Amino acid sequence: MEVVAIYALLLVAIFVGWLLGRSGSRSIKATPRLTRDISHEYFAGLNYLLNDEPDEAIDTFIKALEVNGETVETHLALGSLLRRRGKVDKAIKVHQALLARPGLETRLDDEARLQLAKDYISGGLLDRAERLLKELAQGESQGKWEALTLLVSIYQLEKEWHPAITCTKELLTHSAFRRDAEWNARAVHYHCELAERLLVEGQLSEARRQLRKGAGFQRQHLRGSLLTARLEHESGNYNSVIRECRQIAAHSPSYLTQLLDLMAASYSKLGRDDEFIAFLDGFIDKQADPAALQLMSRLIAETEGVGRATEYLRSHLFTQPSLAVAANLLELQAESNQYDSAILSDIEKIREVLLTHLANQLGFQCSYCGYEARQLYWLCPGCHRWDSIQPKLEKGR
Ligand SMILES: [Zn+2]
Repeated sequence: MEVVAIYALLLVAIFVGWLLGRSGSRSIKATPRLTRDISHEYFAGLNYLLNDEPDEAIDTFIKALEVNGETVETHLALGSLLRRRGKVDKAIKVHQALLARPGLETRLDDEARLQLAKDYISGGLLDRAERLLKELAQGESQGKWEALTLLVSIYQLEKEWHPAITCTKELLTHSAFRRDAEWNARAVHYHCELAERLLVEGQLSEARRQLRKGAGFQRQHLRGSLLTARLEHESGNYNSVIRECRQIAAHSPSYLTQLLDLMAASYSKLGRDDEFIAFLDGFIDKQADPAALQLMSRLIAETEGVGRATEYLRSHLFTQPSLAVAANLLELQAESNQYDSAILSDIEKIREVLLTHLANQLGFQCSYCGYEARQLYWLCPGCHRWDSIQPKLEKGR
């Protein structure tokens, strides 16, 4: 039914376009033969449609609809409809036919180029789309700005971060984008992508330069802060790591898991393990992060013994009951090994069940499209939004 409705709409659009074209032709005294040809092709198209041959019908419609000043908008609507229906090659033909027409006014010429670029993107012809959009972006017409947004999406797709930054910076000179938080955040992410690569390659000063440039677009961006903490750790600036991590823990506590290793290592390098335990204790009081709890019980067990760690978890089980605390407590109970083998096996089994249940509840999820992931993505693979994926917390907490 949907297909029939779409083609009925198409039919009406073409027919209106044809009527407009005919009235336009009249004013320039079209020959009766031309009108007869159009009528013939129009009805041939209708015939194909009735015989359920939509591809042939579309070809006939495209041929029948004369490109003139009156039907340009109809062609644009037809091309966009074809692309949305997945008929990219036909959409390309429609838009190319429009652009071949001499004397197209600038606004419509821009629109036809943008639409053709979108066809190329949909068809995976990114090089062609890029060439077309670059021409538009170098001009001064209104189409320049949409061309820049499409160019950014191509560079993002191809992970070409330098040109993505150049185009985003140009977009941010326009008042419509300058204060847009999403576009500013994109600029930060592109610099972070470069910084991440440089960190892996050990080019620390260049990574720092990229992070600084990113901070120029949005201060205290979470990804920028996490990378800064990593960079400071690589550079041996342990006090800076601690300062950065404590700030992130205060503003975005659900991301603490990403920082625990860095924090523990930095406190340890400075010989301030007690301070770290005190920090972790205060943090867990506010949020029973499973990874933080596990680390805390391990640290207490190492420094004060398993008995003290068990007491610590037991008190948390009463004040902040959670699967994470229960699983950790069972682990320590099994370690203390004061039961017979049957009871130990039961404890292990119960702990496994709890951990499986907990693993299903945790992970990451996009707050926009609901995409679920086991790891943290800054760009959602589902809806392609930046910063929309967040850590899930244990249910009921
Ligand atoms: Zn999403």
